[in-house]
Amino acid sequence: MKRLVILGGGESGVGAALLGKLKEYNVFISDSGKIANNYKDVLIHNEIEWEDGGHTESEILTADLVVKSPGIPDNVSIVQKLQYAMIPVVSEIEFAALHTTANIIGITGSNGKTTTTMMVYHILKQAGLDVAMAGNVGVSFAEQVLTETANYVLELSSFQLDGIKDFRPNIAIITNITPDHLDRYDNKFENYIASKFRIIMNQTSDDYLLYDSDDEVITSYIKCHQIQSTLVPFSLSKIVTNGTYLEQNNIIIDFNNRDIIMPISNLALEGKHNVKNAMAAATVAQLLKIRKATIRESLEGFQGAEHRLEQVLTINKVKYVNDSKATNVNATYYALESMNVPTVWIVGGVDKGNDYSSLFPFVNEKIKAIICLGKDNDALFDAFGNMVDIIIETQFMSEAVKIAYKVADAGEAVLLSPACASFDLFESYEDRGNQFKSAVRKL
Ligand code: ADP
Repeated sequence: MKRLVILGGGESGVGAALLGKLKEYNVFISDSGKIANNYKDVLIHNEIEWEDGGHTESEILTADLVVKSPGIPDNVSIVQKLQYAMIPVVSEIEFAALHTTANIIGITGSNGKTTTTMMVYHILKQAGLDVAMAGNVGVSFAEQVLTETANYVLELSSFQLDGIKDFRPNIAIITNITPDHLDRYDNKFENYIASKFRIIMNQTSDDYLLYDSDDEVITSYIKCHQIQSTLVPFSLSKIVTNGTYLEQNNIIIDFNNRDIIMPISNLALEGKHNVKNAMAAATVAQLLKIRKATIRESLEGFQGAEHRLEQVLTINKVKYVNDSKATNVNATYYALESMNVPTVWIVGGVDKGNDYSSLFPFVNEKIKAIICLGKDNDALFDAFGNMVDIIIETQFMSEAVKIAYKVADAGEAVLLSPACASFDLFESYEDRGNQFKSAVRKL
């Protein structure tokens, strides 16, 4: 029996453990922190051995194969020791992929992964395909592989891609690449870009890479590297050959045949970024030969994911929008871009060295007041202090929402789009978004 050791007892680790058990490995899970009780229950129920609060080397360095959670950096001592002992360390994505022959659609990028993954899943499901969604969203890929499905739609972070070896999606999407998580990449943007492009490293010309060809980071990488994949660009701003573009505000897919899919005004989700996401999703569907009518109806009916430009309520003709998932400037860029009325903007949190300059035109044009919600708001005052008449700080969501309520007039909007991580005042972006929504409901 081969020994499978799993580092990290979260969603992906426990999924890998279950799959490992099914595939008759001798499985052991080790977590340096605490394993959550719900996961412990699963492990106990399935008679899988585990430890938490530390790593016992004698249990780990005897592994034939190690699956490492994407949250654990390569430079921690136990991973270094595994590398020194030449024990293969892979991600749960790699491990799960080893055990399925299904059609895989892998989606990565700095922003838009979850939304695009859910859109693709939604269309495939509506088309009646046997399909499951996994990866960063919902259940782990490994757990989904326990019950074999014909198609998997996977949301993939760069950390998950760092741990692949042979993983080869039939269709890959790179939504966009902007600087993020650089602390894990020696503060080198090029390392982060290379990590995203690992999604195609095993692809051949039988496989597809769908990418935003308006994104110069992506296009210049493609220009400078030999890419085996069949390239399928999508663009909002120009006509592309063998790809997807707009003509008189209609989404056109010109790959093999030229097809008019739908007018963008019929898309359920607002914002230019969501037009791009919809183009990517529609192109996947087209490659899978799904009927146009199904693609169109699916995109017309698609309900967005929670905390992503989510319409909460309208109170006294003021619209409240929750975009708590905007944890970087690029995501907030598209949120501000999509606002079409004067807006009270709640922003702030853990600033990862943000450059806010791309937001200046929108702030000048649309932002009526700024409410800074973070422990340290200096960077926001420096960037926007001269740009708006009202800029206020608070450390409480309830207070932020009450101030916004006072400042916003009928016909205007209140937008939570923080451009920052949430960990100074909140447990997570979900916690931040939920607190926003409950404060709005209490108004
Ligand atoms: P991810 O899973 O990559 O974090 P999400 O779909 O959860 O992406 O969206 C994260 C944030 O980015 C949200 O604020 C959302 O409105 C915004 N967003 C969604 N799609 C895009 C895109 N294509 N480009 C830029 N921002 C986007």
